[in-house]
Amino acid sequence: MSLKAVLFDLDDTLLDWQGFKQDWQTYEEPMLRRVFDQLMTQWTSDFVAFVRDFRERTREAWRQGRGTLIAPNLGRILVQSIEAQGVPAGQLSAEDVLKMYGWRAVPGTSLFPEVTAELKRLRDHGLKLAIVTNAGQPMAVRDIEIGEHGLLPYFPECRVSAADAGYLKPHQAIFQRALDQLGVKASEAVFVGDNPVADIAGAQAAGMYAVLRVTHPVPPMLSGLIVPDAAINSLEELPDVLDRLHPGWRPA
Ligand SMILES: [Mg+2]
Repeated sequence: MSLKAVLFDLDDTLLDWQGFKQDWQTYEEPMLRRVFDQLMTQWTSDFVAFVRDFRERTREAWRQGRGTLIAPNLGRILVQSIEAQGVPAGQLSAEDVLKMYGWRAVPGTSLFPEVTAELKRLRDHGLKLAIVTNAGQPMAVRDIEIGEHGLLPYFPECRVSAADAGYLKPHQAIFQRALDQLGVKASEAVFVGDNPVADIAGAQAAGMYAVLRVTHPVPPMLSGLIVPDAAINSLEELPDVLDRLHPGWRPA
């Protein structure tokens, strides 16, 4: 059997964001308020300036990341923004700040309905599973969220966020980090994701078969340039796709 692992993108591949209707800045503000109230009031009363600076740094980190593929890191950006408001440097660990920030499962998000059953099916066949996400949050942060969604038991071996890997998909470093953690070769793995560039082109360049999970239309510009090895609308279609890509991965 040549197939040993299936790697998944998280957002809009396993986790459906369609039900999240708020605007992100409004949603995030209470988290920034918690950080401010717990850490900063001794040095500043200007919450608005802190938020403005944080947002500016975040925007800039993602703007640069799109060109360099160097991943933004929420913990680092928070610490920089706190220090920029005059809180003495060197007293803050990103870990502690992120605990105060208090990331949780986001209201309105949920697993796509078939996800749990299909992940269980793959694990029952002895496959290792991984999450590889282009998140600016360190994985320890997103682990809280995916734990609330009940995903953690399916991914004991490997969960990688771009913030931890240092690079965003489609950079090879983040895929290689996941393969190393799983202890499998690219040729023994299949990647499933919804983003043609980050997930499909990236995984293929890393040597994996890449399956496009279609949750929104593929931009026509890309559809001729990036060709997934398969496309699915539901993870229920994945076992048959794996039969084609890695014949014999499950008993006939
Ligand atoms: Mg995605």
